[in-house]
Amino acid sequence: MSGERVLYGVAASPGIGFGHALVYREKPMGSLEREITDVKMELERYRNAVDTFCRITEAKADRVAEMAGKEQGDIIRCQAEMIRDPYLNGQVEGRIASRQSAEAALSASCDFYIDLFTASEEETTRQRAADVRDLRGSMLRLLLGLPETDFSALQPGTVLLAEELSPSAVSVLNSANVAGIVLGKGGPTSHSAILARALEIPAVLGVEDRVMDTEIGETVIVDGNRGCAVFSPGHVMRSVYEDRQKEFQQLRASLRVFVGRETVTADGERIRLCSNAGSVSDAVRAAGYGCDGIGLLRTEFLYLDRTSQPGEEEQFHTYRQILGAMRGKRATIRTLDVGGDKNLPYLGQIKEDNPFLGCRGLRFSLREESMFRAHLRAVLRASAFGKAQLLLPMVTGVEEVRRAREILEEEKEVLRRRNVAFDENMPMGIMIETVAACLMADALAKEADFFSLGTNDLTQYTLGVDRGNARVAHLYSYFHPALLWLVRHVLESARRTGTPVGMCGEAAADTALTPVLLSFGLKDFSVAPVSVLPVRKAISLWTKEEADAVTQEAMQLSTEQEVREYLKEQEKT
Ligand code: PEP
Ligand code: MG
Repeated sequence: MSGERVLYGVAASPGIGFGHALVYREKPMGSLEREITDVKMELERYRNAVDTFCRITEAKADRVAEMAGKEQGDIIRCQAEMIRDPYLNGQVEGRIASRQSAEAALSASCDFYIDLFTASEEETTRQRAADVRDLRGSMLRLLLGLPETDFSALQPGTVLLAEELSPSAVSVLNSANVAGIVLGKGGPTSHSAILARALEIPAVLGVEDRVMDTEIGETVIVDGNRGCAVFSPGHVMRSVYEDRQKEFQQLRASLRVFVGRETVTADGERIRLCSNAGSVSDAVRAAGYGCDGIGLLRTEFLYLDRTSQPGEEEQFHTYRQILGAMRGKRATIRTLDVGGDKNLPYLGQIKEDNPFLGCRGLRFSLREESMFRAHLRAVLRASAFGKAQLLLPMVTGVEEVRRAREILEEEKEVLRRRNVAFDENMPMGIMIETVAACLMADALAKEADFFSLGTNDLTQYTLGVDRGNARVAHLYSYFHPALLWLVRHVLESARRTGTPVGMCGEAAADTALTPVLLSFGLKDFSVAPVSVLPVRKAISLWTKEEADAVTQEAMQLSTEQEVREYLKEQEKT
């Protein structure tokens, strides 16, 4: 396809990027069955692939051991051992001998073990299913001659196009090389979008299938502010976008006067403005903007790009490093929020029909108790080296918070017995991101030391709209009056019960909502590093009286569109 064309989607990460298209396709493997006439040759082909796989894997293991230690290297080496396992090999070769193709034989033999391991009650055995799945994928790619994509090593000036990209693929992108991302699927608060924002890579999501019509190398402009991508731009379009890019850069530069300033409203009220983080480098960047701490550390983002579960020791070091970057400012460490659109393959999570309504967040942690306990010990130990607080995701009721508290207290006792230092008074708070948690806020206030409003999930659960589904993205909006009423309810409950409350969902970063949140009494915002300065500026433009007047009007409106349009009209720049 050639000639200038524009595709529209949702603006997922601000900025304007120029680059050349790299179209990533998860190549369909197609049918693996083939007629085999020469069994001997097929066996040889399989054995050669095993040898190559082992050679590549050993080299990779050596590299990883050098960079991350022997233990990490050994985990990778395990895959080479697995493929040499006599039982697995016997099964594959037996199938080839009965005239199955090497690919079909390998796939069926791996499936047998995947099913076996997945059905186990033992967590460690279930994790092995993910290893076998990984092994099957790599071996099939080798046998079929398909390349592996190394997302961490893309060429400078790449615009990455794909139908869908997992959060783990986005997490390893290098923002110096990736000028933009355009995806067929995904909404503005899908975790791939959140990661793109954290990396400050302009992104447009939800442009649907047409994204795959792009030619590799085609020039693309990604407009993450308006939510569109221009392919093969002509002279006029190119010069319009060069101006817009300059304007955007100037706007960013003008915000630099807000670096390191306190966050205060126009009538002098001090507001806490923290940053969300998913990596040590996010924490460092956020500290550079002069924020008041980390309002949400998404611990699951730290472990997306790996093949094995981090142990207590490794987690402890990472949390300690993040607390160190905060130099005495508070970091809110959220316990693992896997499930939904975030899967860590090595955890052996079971595929669910409705993952956002399934075993996610705290539910997963309470089910995998020993993993949760190690996670809590790591956070507790790190708490001796800074100001930490613990945050529980996906809470729907009092019982789960009580159970989490019990486990936390037991792990404190374990550390006391071992004479390990930790902060005895580390607060434990909860995400308010389900409708149940909003409505139960008064009761939950007795169990939790603080609340953090997660509007990303709250929007999807309130409106019944999957946050990552582009087909319903037009229905997903925190401007919906139902959301505003729920947020107001929670802030009132928090005020009544004296519970500290913050907001770490993306709504906190939308400067059109700033007056409403201020008027509701929100005094603790946590936003992506890239949003710290724009939000600090927006807060500085409102007095309480002005914010109240706008909010009173907004709360009279009964449709999402009316609220959104009204608040955008009132937005101060
Ligand atoms: C939220 O749901 O608003 C939130 C902050 O958590 P996450 O986006 O990680 O689900
Ligand atoms: Mg959430």
